[in-house]
Amino acid sequence: MGNLPFLASSLNPFKPILNFFHSGGFRAGVELVGFFVVVLWLATAFYAFKDARRRIADPVLIAVAVATAVVFPFVGVLVYVILRPPEYLDDVRERELEIRAMERRLGVEQRCPYCRSEIDASFLACPVCTNRLKNPCRRCKAPLEPDWNLCPYCETLIDEPQPDHQTEPVRATRRRSLAKHEQEQTG
Ligand SMILES: [Zn+2]
Ligand SMILES: [Zn+2]
Repeated sequence: MGNLPFLASSLNPFKPILNFFHSGGFRAGVELVGFFVVVLWLATAFYAFKDARRRIADPVLIAVAVATAVVFPFVGVLVYVILRPPEYLDDVRERELEIRAMERRLGVEQRCPYCRSEIDASFLACPVCTNRLKNPCRRCKAPLEPDWNLCPYCETLIDEPQPDHQTEPVRATRRRSLAKHEQEQTG
């Protein structure tokens, strides 16, 4: 009971604080903070819109992302950041173009140099014109490129000329074919 007059008196040490909370300055401060929170909330929604447009092609999904950021302030944009596609559409498109260009390049190379028929990288000879395309590794029989010095599959050194007795006729046919091919090119 003895405390009540003390609280009511002007000597109350909390009175300046209470006065501050009821002052116009405090209210203006709260309004200012509220304003910044709203601006930040709208900024996160705008960020979700800008980012989603770069990552998502479907306009419905973009609308869902923005709506999430608007309906659930700050949490919504966090959820969007976790669930968004990891790549930008531009990067995906660029990579697809690169892959297509690579496939085209490979497609040009995957042809018999003698008759231009389609061949597989694992072919030792052309099935159409029967020309020898690659020599097999003498140990693992893997097809080897002519300029290789080592079999990349079994690490066997490729000595030149190969001791394989089959090599000579194949080389001769290959030289003949090459000569024929050059004639065709020039003629
Ligand atoms: Zn061929
Ligand atoms: Zn080998």
